[in-house]
Amino acid sequence: MGNKKEFKLTIELVPSTVWFSSLCQIYRRENKLDKWRKIKKELFKKEGKRCWICGKEGTPLEAHEFWQYDDINHVQRLAAVHHLCGMCHKIKHIGYWCYTEEGRKKLEELGLTGEDLINHFCKVNNCSREDFEEHEKEAFRIWRERSKYRWKQDFGQYDPMLHL
Ligand SMILES: [Zn+2]
Ligand SMILES: [Zn+2]
Repeated sequence: MGNKKEFKLTIELVPSTVWFSSLCQIYRRENKLDKWRKIKKELFKKEGKRCWICGKEGTPLEAHEFWQYDDINHVQRLAAVHHLCGMCHKIKHIGYWCYTEEGRKKLEELGLTGEDLINHFCKVNNCSREDFEEHEKEAFRIWRERSKYRWKQDFGQYDPMLHL
């Protein structure tokens, strides 16, 4: 505490006990991806065609779900959805892209390496590689801790039950 840096672009690892249960995945399972496309359309209208974190334009944008965690009551709450560029989005889910076989293979197919992701993190946050490593280590520590628990999900304004 105290001197922890505030980064614009952070790693946000979803606890393993709530994998496969994002809003996008629910819509996909329910065959309701048109609802997801509607969210994206509204984002384009409200926030323009740029990455919400690094501001990059003229690049394909991916909608990312920003979750908040109540570590006492173990409630995972969907706070917001914003469009991110491919690089910022990969940092969010770096556990998948750099630490699973499937993710690493896909990253390679895209012509990217883990180094490219780290460089993007350092550029956007104007920080050093050591800063990245410290942030990553902390993100995985939190992930391991949160993955010990079952989480109640709160989709807030995005509640799919309200829109199915
Ligand atoms: Zn970006
Ligand atoms: Zn995401």
